[in-house]
Amino acid sequence: MSEQRSGSGAPSGQRNVVIVGAGMAGVQTAVALREQGFTGAVTLLGAEPHQPYDRPPLSKAVLLGKAEGSAFDVDFEALGVSLELGREVTGLRPGDHELDTAEGPVPYDVLVVATGAEPVQLPGGAGAAPGVHLLRTLDDAELLRPVLAEQHDVVVVGAGWIGAEFATAAREAGCRVTVVEAAERPLAGALPAEIAAPMATWYADAGAQLRTHARVQRIEPGVVVLDDGTRLPAGAVVVGIGARPATRWLAGSGIELGAHREVLADEGLRTSVPDVYAVGDCSSFPSGRYGQRLMVHHWDNALQGPRTVAANIVGVTPAVYDPVPYFWSEQFGRFVQYAGHHEGADATVWRGDPAGAAWSVCWLRDGALVAVLAVGKPRDLAQGRKLIQSGAPLDPRLLADPARPLKSAVA
Ligand code: FAD
Repeated sequence: MSEQRSGSGAPSGQRNVVIVGAGMAGVQTAVALREQGFTGAVTLLGAEPHQPYDRPPLSKAVLLGKAEGSAFDVDFEALGVSLELGREVTGLRPGDHELDTAEGPVPYDVLVVATGAEPVQLPGGAGAAPGVHLLRTLDDAELLRPVLAEQHDVVVVGAGWIGAEFATAAREAGCRVTVVEAAERPLAGALPAEIAAPMATWYADAGAQLRTHARVQRIEPGVVVLDDGTRLPAGAVVVGIGARPATRWLAGSGIELGAHREVLADEGLRTSVPDVYAVGDCSSFPSGRYGQRLMVHHWDNALQGPRTVAANIVGVTPAVYDPVPYFWSEQFGRFVQYAGHHEGADATVWRGDPAGAAWSVCWLRDGALVAVLAVGKPRDLAQGRKLIQSGAPLDPRLLADPARPLKSAVA
């Protein structure tokens, strides 16, 4: 175990680190602190009553009853981490180095904000109508299990990642599924039109009806009414229209927030307030690699970011967070993976036929790979991820040949 000195001059082992949010980012921060030799007190405060758990299985195995839960395999006691569940933090007073909770104040020397994100609700109170569900927490997934088991007619609002995964599970369970999307295509906020176009056909192939350019006007008992007057029977409605950082509790704290209420962290994941870090879905960071601020709402970011936070709490040399972002999605029998960030790319190269089972798309900028989307092609993803990291120039003609390994396109 190391016992280094922090920037403030206090021995790191005597400092008291408090982490708010016991999701992936919070738990991994606690684990990384111990892995990196931090010997001081570590307290993890989580609003949910459940043992900390992983979210991706919620829209997959947990929803279908193939897995009971998805609790992290972490022995908090053995790590010397004090885990306080069902403890919501309501405020931060940086001047006093204290957090507020209903049970009283919690002092900290170093604070890590890891409160994740909360799903966006339908406007006008429609989200509170009976039979309307969100899918963010274990409790949400448990409420949705009987909906699938009883094979209700389901209307899914939003054809994003969560909507597609829920629709997949609901079809597998034998539900009649209609997906309502306000934009002209699925994943409109995430992928360019020509890339998402082949994905739109996956819905029909799986027996789900996708209605684009369709907006929910209101929800009546058992019916979703669209703004063109269409009435869709709905034993249940699942809303998947995005998520926003869960940072309302930081109001008045002086911590700088961005346009989406995300904590604006620096390249070392420090916030605008001394001794306070932010990591995971609740924050954004400046990417040196992509020359812009990134807010990443994916699992790998909540795994990698904590290592930088822990290194900066423990270490003497400042650590910089500049990842190649990565995520995956399992939808309609396909394994979809993405690495990098395609905004600012100047060329797109397809590898394979998007009507087929396995294909990928590469985005280049100045001849180097900046992002890759792989459908059923994990090797393309793995090789592409390394090439993005290295910035090696590629030959687009070699790259376009799906029979050649992606890495053989290095010019
Ligand atoms: P969270 O997981 O949201 O955890 C934050 C925790 O903080 C929560 O438990 C919350 O209750 C707690 N909290 C919030 N406010 C307070 C407060 N004031 N006081 C105390 N505690 C508080 N990503 C992928 O890459 N691939 C996938 O296939 C994938 N599938 C997903 C499926 C679902 C259903 C969901 C919801 C997400 C999925 N993701 C996936 C995204 C991934 O799970 C998230 O990016 C990841 O969970 C973010 O971790 P986090 O710790 O930052 O936030």
